[in-house]
Amino acid sequence: MTLPASRRHFLQLAGAGLALASSGLPRPALAQPATVAPPTANEGAVLLNFNECPYGPSPAAQQAARDSIASCGRYRFALAGEVRDAFIAQAGVPADHVRLYPGSSEPLNRAATLWTGPQAGLVVADPTFETLGEMAAARGAHVQKVPLRSDGAHDLRAMVAAAHARPTGLLYVCNPNNPTGSISPADELAWLLVNKPAGTRVLLDEAYLQYSEQPSLIAQVARRDDLIVLRTFSKLYGMAGLRLGVAAAHPERLRELASLGENPLPVPALAAALASLRDPQLVPQRRLQNAKARQTTIAWLGKRGFDCLPTEANCFVVDVQRDGAAFAKAMADNGVVIGRSWPIWPQRVRVTVGTEEEMARFRSAFAKVAGVPA
Ligand code: PLP
Repeated sequence: MTLPASRRHFLQLAGAGLALASSGLPRPALAQPATVAPPTANEGAVLLNFNECPYGPSPAAQQAARDSIASCGRYRFALAGEVRDAFIAQAGVPADHVRLYPGSSEPLNRAATLWTGPQAGLVVADPTFETLGEMAAARGAHVQKVPLRSDGAHDLRAMVAAAHARPTGLLYVCNPNNPTGSISPADELAWLLVNKPAGTRVLLDEAYLQYSEQPSLIAQVARRDDLIVLRTFSKLYGMAGLRLGVAAAHPERLRELASLGENPLPVPALAAALASLRDPQLVPQRRLQNAKARQTTIAWLGKRGFDCLPTEANCFVVDVQRDGAAFAKAMADNGVVIGRSWPIWPQRVRVTVGTEEEMARFRSAFAKVAGVPA
């Protein structure tokens, strides 16, 4: 099996590039992947590179998706309403403050298109999930990258200062952060919302929040019109390939996001999402499974002198004390495909948390590549 050069790169080709081509806008130069192309993985390799959920959709979600296929000749708009209602009942958000999308990438891209540009910059952490920064840069926005603190957390004070320093349309916080899994606590986020420039909108990406014990800020969208919260079914619910995400915001912000066009939702994804939302055990069960596998591996690495930043997500960043890209290549040669490194941290690599068995294979490949005891 050959992997694409990078998922980011692929998404740009498949989504942004095509969308821009058809919109008549000048097509931005595609960003180069930050590291060399990910190594080729053999069939049967362990894939710990894209922060995917190794368990896939829950058994009930898979059954619901299968059962929905016969009705896929219809758009099933009412089913989308059922999913939204199940979601808002749990999130505590009014119905008109929530809109579903085929994945959270879509509202993320739309946010960059709407709220960044030559006169409206973007403030992001470094490193963080890059899609928004790349989209904003392609639109001519100035992107201010604020390095994470030494504990891997967002430096929210420095980000607010950066937003005041020049015109800033959007400030992006990924909580927990990708790639570090680090947390921005709710009280610090509350401080950020009070102290940011009045005209700056905050995009809070909670893609990985279900893996942590942290409270969501999603209910805040009912009280302010400058906060957009994103959630996805791609991560803990294991539905990355099915495509469903949520944007929560003031109805006016949702109207702006929707002004970039309609895109009906995949029916099997709606069916699987409803089954997932109706299973009260799924989130705590998977959160625990993930935390156990993550903690065992981080403790194992620590005992061998390899530090990881504190994480509450399904990924962690480990300092491999040598070139990260070369290390990742050697890991892939040993049947375990891990994530990449970032320009700011060339010796650290991101690893997605897999099943207990997959993490055992990770540890044994790591021992071999790093030359430490298994
Ligand atoms: N936000 C973050 C932080 C991510 O890591 C990802 C995917 O990896 C996404 C958003 C996009 O996810 P999706 O479009 O599958 O919902």
